[in-house]
Amino acid sequence: MKIVLLGPPGSGKGTQANLICKKYDIPHISTGDIFRTNIANGTALGKKAKEYIDAGSLVPDELTIKIVEDRLKQDDCKNGFVLDGFPRVRTQAEALSKMTQIDKAIMIDLDDEEIINRLSKRRMCRKCGNPTHLDNLINGYCEKCGGEVYTRADDAPEVIKQRLIKQKLPQDVVDFYKDLGLFEKINSTNSMEETFKLVDSILSGIKE
Ligand code: AMP
Repeated sequence: MKIVLLGPPGSGKGTQANLICKKYDIPHISTGDIFRTNIANGTALGKKAKEYIDAGSLVPDELTIKIVEDRLKQDDCKNGFVLDGFPRVRTQAEALSKMTQIDKAIMIDLDDEEIINRLSKRRMCRKCGNPTHLDNLINGYCEKCGGEVYTRADDAPEVIKQRLIKQKLPQDVVDFYKDLGLFEKINSTNSMEETFKLVDSILSGIKE
């Protein structure tokens, strides 16, 4: 099962990706996570990506496409994967179609107001990487593993606004997948469990 999750930052793509990966035992490939790991490890890729990420801009294609290409060649992707946060522009969608054939592109959508509310209250766990809403922290710690939490630098209110402006999913990406008959759209206003039911009903229609 090869799935692409599209949608604005903060719409819950990462959470849905985790739920799909757990149920179907396939890897979760988040380009944002790959960049953040590289930044934390001080790699050359991380240094280049950081300036774009800090500004709320997209990292250039020549860096982004290569990391996906390398990742999809790894053994654990043989039976499928969930791509979270890639493609974000048409050129990336076209490059992906040359790497492999995906089964569905599901857009997880949410209103800007709710996105700003969720992202500004999102805290990340240093230990397990899980995002927790501020109101759901347990005594200030991760709801999942009890680890220490932090705020992502790009979840600062002024960067969130930039991300929403600069990273609006272009219509030509949607059209690319519509033309292939692979596009589906879901609104994630409801709980993550409710949203997952909708996602999973789409996945259950995929023939293996
Ligand atoms: P995310 O965790 O998906 O919100 O990604 C964090 C940041 O990484 C984004 O704000 C972008 O700067 C960068 N990024 C992630 N995926 C891509 C992509 N497919 N193309 C360009 N930049 C990306």
